[in-house]
Amino acid sequence: METRGTAPAIDAVDLAQRLIRAPSVTPDDAGAIPLLAAALEGLGFACSTVEFTEPGAAPVLNLYARRGKAGRNFCFAGHTDVVPPGRREDWSLDPFAGAVRDGKLYGRGAVDMKGAIACFVAAVAAFLAERGQAFDGSISLLITGDEEAAAINGTRKLLEWVAARGERLDACVVGEPTSADRLGDMIKIGRRGSLNGILTVHGVQGHTAYPHLADNAAHRLVAMLAALLAAPLDDGTSHFPASTIAISTIDIGNPTSNVIPAAARAVFNVRFNDRWTSAAVEAWLRQALDRVGGRYDLEIKVSGESFLVPPGAVSDILATAIARVTGLTPALSTTGGTSDARFIHRFCPLAEFGLLNLTAHKVDECVDLADLAALTAIYRNVLDLYFA
Ligand SMILES: [Zn+2]
Repeated sequence: METRGTAPAIDAVDLAQRLIRAPSVTPDDAGAIPLLAAALEGLGFACSTVEFTEPGAAPVLNLYARRGKAGRNFCFAGHTDVVPPGRREDWSLDPFAGAVRDGKLYGRGAVDMKGAIACFVAAVAAFLAERGQAFDGSISLLITGDEEAAAINGTRKLLEWVAARGERLDACVVGEPTSADRLGDMIKIGRRGSLNGILTVHGVQGHTAYPHLADNAAHRLVAMLAALLAAPLDDGTSHFPASTIAISTIDIGNPTSNVIPAAARAVFNVRFNDRWTSAAVEAWLRQALDRVGGRYDLEIKVSGESFLVPPGAVSDILATAIARVTGLTPALSTTGGTSDARFIHRFCPLAEFGLLNLTAHKVDECVDLADLAALTAIYRNVLDLYFA
């Protein structure tokens, strides 16, 4: 027996507005996760709000919501935290008002990524309204309030928490804003790794008139940085662009023009593809620095390893759903910064797809209402295809 119309309709615009009005600047929740949980409970989801803590870090609210106890578990992953809006006067509309103007919804989180969360919930509501009690699979949402900053008390811990309950995820779509120029033009199937190097070079202080009596740390630093930039790390792989090194700062802070500095410091960022692990990058860096010679300290901070989910079930379904709604064939990309997909891909196959990232983290972040409708339709098609 099939019962239709069992799930209340959810309007993606309305839900996105309500989420934006909760000013959940990372790591504050400001009511965003309870609001989302209430909407999901209305659709029959069992919601667990989980707070994680860590010494020295703010406690963070997370949400695992699941509807259905059996069948394959399709998961949507995302975050309700947002980056700070910056100066209010730089925005043409209040960043936390969720106002609509000229067919666009404005606010911090509109594209990154409260809008996509609202679209997925609206898609689930429409899917359940049609399938009703006949649906015997599982849909889950893995939502954190700790993605934009430390990401210590967020998705990584929530995945372990879900696994410890004996639950598994069978496929996942991460709703980060991946579209570049038009909704549907890009899916992410992996991400480059990222590490920061803090290089301190030690020399011997002296008079600039007697350089032979000193060891100029500034000169050594220049030579070391030149060595790091002399040749590319690689020339790319089948799904990744070439790895890159970017110097972000060079600091000596020497106020005196006739003193040779004893120490010099630089910070650089390495974005590396799937040919490298962070350990291999570090070994490469140390070899290059050792060849120049001299005393130095190199501190490495790893933000994330590179990963690739080879094109397969999830990216295929997404591409089909996108083509149905937009007519576009999405590029399968690995560009951009890190995301929580770097944790989730160890648990199940995944791909990332969401709104346009043109205004993410910017003043006047906004989304076309038409894109919210189209993304809702795409996510709805994903559910139809996955549970066909
Ligand atoms: Zn995001």
